[in-house]
Amino acid sequence: MENLLEVKNLQFSFRTYGGVVKAVRDVSFEVRPGEILGIVGESGCGKSVTSQCLMRLNPEPPGFFEGGEILYKGKDFTKASGQELRKMRADMQIIFQDPYASLNPRMTVGEVIAEPLNIQKRYKTAEETRAQVLKTMEVVGLNPKYYNRYPHEFSGGQRQRIGIARAIVLGPSLVVCDEPVSALDVSIQSQVLNLLRELQNSMGMAYIFISHNLSVIKHISDRVMVMYLGHVVEMADKKELFANPSHPYTQALLSAIPMPERHSKRKKIILQGDLPSPANPPSGCIFHTRCFMAKDICSTQKPELRDIGNGHMCACHFCDGCK
Ligand code: SF4
Repeated sequence: MENLLEVKNLQFSFRTYGGVVKAVRDVSFEVRPGEILGIVGESGCGKSVTSQCLMRLNPEPPGFFEGGEILYKGKDFTKASGQELRKMRADMQIIFQDPYASLNPRMTVGEVIAEPLNIQKRYKTAEETRAQVLKTMEVVGLNPKYYNRYPHEFSGGQRQRIGIARAIVLGPSLVVCDEPVSALDVSIQSQVLNLLRELQNSMGMAYIFISHNLSVIKHISDRVMVMYLGHVVEMADKKELFANPSHPYTQALLSAIPMPERHSKRKKIILQGDLPSPANPPSGCIFHTRCFMAKDICSTQKPELRDIGNGHMCACHFCDGCK
């Protein structure tokens, strides 16, 4: 199956008063049509910056693209402009983390959802646009009678439904979900996750689903990519990754997931120290300052991300299968 999206050696940095911060380093991955790729890691690992680069949104603080390729349906998204860029943008949409900040408070729900249709000049008449907006509202579980209401009249979960409606109204092939449930109450999170799953099943879209929460990633993803300090450290099918986590960082993240069994034997791995500054990343393996398995070689030699069997990729000198 041909890939929908191919990201090759993506590099992105921020210029700060303290110097250049390398936020994303040599990140490569692909997304197949209709699959959900989960991206997980602590805050500051570069997962949201990666997603914003993919959409060609300039993350805050403004940074600069240093290299790499983003191929969408075989075309270089970083070089597209004018009509071609507009067409590609219609097919790639994003759902933001904060349903409060991402909706314009001066626009009604109908206007918010109609905006992408109007920008893309999808319909000739206002009636056709309105009909598509009302249909999309029903699909995401919003009562069409709320068409003329304003975002502040809604709860967090309903606002996120408005954000989802705006993202899917054009019928995109790929949606980037940037921590779409982390700002919501726990009781609402599963409703929104289930809605996203149902929409993905019925519309056949692919998602890049970003979260710092491995339980959420486990619930929704088909494949999982783990990031640390701007680098990909492990990537595998969900079942494989959760059954055989190979990178010590992934093992530590997994060990922190609460287990339902009272007498679970799983031992929690506590990582020592804080996340190092991306302005001054460690030499050798970027994880060696916090790794419970580190040896001398780790501080001098960078491990490559390599296939350790059946497409399971891992960047550690001592991961299972590595020679
Ligand atoms: Fe830990 Fe060394 Fe593997 Fe890095 S290469 S994850 S420091 S064991």
